[in-house]
Amino acid sequence: MKWVRLLQEGQSCWGQLHDGMIQVCVGSPLAGGQHCRPHPTLERLPLEGTPLLPPCQPTKIVCVGRNYRAHAEEMGNAVLEADPLFFLKPPSSLLPPGGTILLPSLSQRVDHEGELGVVIARRCHRLRPGADLRPYLFGFTCVNDVTARDLQSRDPQWTRAKGFDTFCPVGPVVAEAPGADPARPWAGLRVETRVNGVLRQSGSTDDFLFSLEAQLAAITAVMTLEPGDLIATGTPAGVGPLAPGDRVSVSISGIGTLENVVAAAPEA
Ligand code: MG
Repeated sequence: MKWVRLLQEGQSCWGQLHDGMIQVCVGSPLAGGQHCRPHPTLERLPLEGTPLLPPCQPTKIVCVGRNYRAHAEEMGNAVLEADPLFFLKPPSSLLPPGGTILLPSLSQRVDHEGELGVVIARRCHRLRPGADLRPYLFGFTCVNDVTARDLQSRDPQWTRAKGFDTFCPVGPVVAEAPGADPARPWAGLRVETRVNGVLRQSGSTDDFLFSLEAQLAAITAVMTLEPGDLIATGTPAGVGPLAPGDRVSVSISGIGTLENVVAAAPEA
């Protein structure tokens, strides 16, 4: 099953995707703090041309850094061995599919980082490293962890570099089971990022330095995750700059393609 969020008469609602059509639902698949089935209505809309919302409403966005060896090496960083590195993006950075990434005047270098996103289904804390994650996961989506690279180098922590409005494009769908392995449906997914149609980043979730189980164990050792929270699982090698007028897309097998345009932020 694939899920989308959209606006209907000014209200946000969920829909199920079937053969390129959205079946509008009453209720949320995350209602009640766990994954459940909202009621489908008779209303159907074509996916093509229907504006979508980000397919989650996180209380927090937790991003894992340096989770692909080749990306750590291209940045000149040590490859992490003991613990995953993670940081937060504010929910105010969320951007829907098709939305415009705004390049702030505070930065001269803003990069794309295409990543697999994981949406949480059920409150969880202190997950064991070997826990079966499936009851806790709603599904999987595409994320662009847009980064002001010059500010990231300059600041001792990354709140500015990662936190601008529009710096977290996400969507277009949440897919419950994108991969072939029902026990680990996030395994073997190809994560590709293109700028103006040119392939810039390509990796596989099989190349994670830290497994998804290890990532969630490390995060939930610190903070409680709530239904709808979003985890970005790190970016493959090939990050690079964005310029006004660019079209950037993140494609993940079994999920779909998140596409956004880029523009300079208006003068304050
Ligand atoms: Mg990242």
